[in-house]
Amino acid sequence: MDRIVFLGTAGGRASVFRFLRRSGGFLVWLSGNLLHVDPGPGAFVYLHQLGIDPKNIDLVVLSHIHLDHSSDVNAVVEAATDGGKLKGVALFAPRSAFDGRDRVILPFVRERLAWEGFLEEGKELSYKGISVKAVMKHTHHATETYALLFNNRILYVSCALYEDRMLKAYPEKVELMIINTTLYRKTNPIDHLTVEDAERLIEHLRPQKVVLTHFGYEFLLQHDPKRIAEELSNKHGIKVISAEDFMEVKL
Ligand SMILES: [Zn+2]
Ligand SMILES: [Zn+2]
Repeated sequence: MDRIVFLGTAGGRASVFRFLRRSGGFLVWLSGNLLHVDPGPGAFVYLHQLGIDPKNIDLVVLSHIHLDHSSDVNAVVEAATDGGKLKGVALFAPRSAFDGRDRVILPFVRERLAWEGFLEEGKELSYKGISVKAVMKHTHHATETYALLFNNRILYVSCALYEDRMLKAYPEKVELMIINTTLYRKTNPIDHLTVEDAERLIEHLRPQKVVLTHFGYEFLLQHDPKRIAEELSNKHGIKVISAEDFMEVKL
């Protein structure tokens, strides 16, 4: 059955590395395949805690190289390939994750991959039964970051500075939209989405369901994501959920 499990729901340095909540990205079961998106700190351990065999993972995707999205990528690929014995695991990521000064994928782990795909705006990559379209390149602290559409059903709005271009680049009425809503409101100029930005996306794109996640330090300490989600649901007549660690959403 198609479903999503959120390993962790903290986002941004302060919240993730002070461990206000878990991290580790999310898992998507789609048409018999298993996709792991943004395996940040703890992902490998949480997979095991949930009783999920990493060897079932078919595809790993990184939206960008920041550590809260990528720190466990090597451990997860190592486990998914059973130390290189299994040859059926692919990785899609920005080119910056594979090559150059800031690469996060170790060369010997890279060799274990059955296939590697480089995300580029407008390009769709597929592996087994999963398609991943990089619908927009985000502005996010000068790091190559993408919003991703999985099987034309799930839109993942990764970390970003809000831009009106999103309203044109993103598809309307998707089955599920996951929004990395790191900030309650913007107090200094950082490239993360706020509740107001998320609301603009919801209002214009009318997804069938929304999950808010990747909550930052101030958001978690000074506000209540659950109450915010309820308010947005009531205001727009769309089901908006605030993610909890280990939460499951059926598709
Ligand atoms: Zn992030
Ligand atoms: Zn980031």
